[in-house]
Amino acid sequence: MAERDYYEVLGVSRDASQGDIKKAYRKLAMKHHPDQNPDDPKAEEKFKEIGEAYEVISDDDKRAAYDRYGHAAFKNGGGGGGRGGFHDPMDIFSQVFGGGGGGSMFDDLFGGGGGRRRDPSGKKRGSDLRYDLEITLEEAAEGVEKELEIEKYATCGKCSGSGSKSGNAGTNTCTTCGGRGVVGQQRGIFIQQATCPECRGAGQIIADPCGECNGDGRKQAPERVSIRIPAGVDDGTRLRSTGKGDAGTRGGPAGDLYVFLHLRDHDVFQRNGDDLFCEVPLPFSTAALGGELEVPTLTGSATMKVPTGTQGGTTFRLRDRGMPALNSRGTGDLHVEVQVEVPTKLTFEQKEKLQAFTESIGEQNSPMQESFFEKAKRFFDL
Ligand SMILES: [Zn+2]
Ligand SMILES: [Zn+2]
Repeated sequence: MAERDYYEVLGVSRDASQGDIKKAYRKLAMKHHPDQNPDDPKAEEKFKEIGEAYEVISDDDKRAAYDRYGHAAFKNGGGGGGRGGFHDPMDIFSQVFGGGGGGSMFDDLFGGGGGRRRDPSGKKRGSDLRYDLEITLEEAAEGVEKELEIEKYATCGKCSGSGSKSGNAGTNTCTTCGGRGVVGQQRGIFIQQATCPECRGAGQIIADPCGECNGDGRKQAPERVSIRIPAGVDDGTRLRSTGKGDAGTRGGPAGDLYVFLHLRDHDVFQRNGDDLFCEVPLPFSTAALGGELEVPTLTGSATMKVPTGTQGGTTFRLRDRGMPALNSRGTGDLHVEVQVEVPTKLTFEQKEKLQAFTESIGEQNSPMQESFFEKAKRFFDL
């Protein structure tokens, strides 16, 4: 049974960028997922085939091997057996490339040290980027969609990232370094190696470099990226946007974008985990008589019952009025500390009434004073 060409399976051209390959794979995988096609017995086989193709083509090393040796690069002994056993590609990969021959003297001398394998096509993964974003407590509570303007390397639109003017003129071996990507500089009796300035380590030079990006396949350009911030995030939460970092060189995979969240201080609420804390003034008459108190919440306000004889500094807990939990169900609580407020501008009449009240209440009925004097006897010489 003939194997279908992996590029054909994914419906992409042989020089498709990793971005396009990923896109094509996602689309196909979604369409042919067995869960989506419960009545089609062939869906699972199709789905597997797509997975096999993607596993090879999405990996630059395996892709290069496939381009050169076809399916034989990934089969033990080739021929016969048909479908079925998809052996670990890396295993067979090492049989094709590993062992005797191949490596130059240069590799033997300098290899190992850095451990970085050069991709002959000059493809390199783009850098990961960091973006610091400040959000409000309300945004953290509800979740929000933000559009960020990122300074980054983006895929060159003119050459679609290939770096080549014509699209596929290929590469020439760099004459400065002979394709090794590094040049040796004589330092006394030692030879010190440095990245080749001509090909910048790629070993290959694009035959007809794109005028827009000088053969890099990418150029600096701001990009608007929208990210979804889930409800419940906190100061220091880090979000990753896969593939939104710097574009790779010459069609290499893009890096990721990391968004570090910072929470702006709130005028009313302090946050601790999923709980919120605030202080609310309480009129002294309500503190004595009891009653209702309107308190702020993140979404507006709520009415709280204050019992008779509430002391200043008492904290009340309003269930589920805090922050939503980020990775689980549930919501934190709101802790309201009341501050008893003493009126500052009293009329003559009000003062007289308060005086009369003080006389009527006498020395009893002052629970805090009683326990205080009990503890502080020796200071007052009672
Ligand atoms: Zn270009
Ligand atoms: Zn070079």
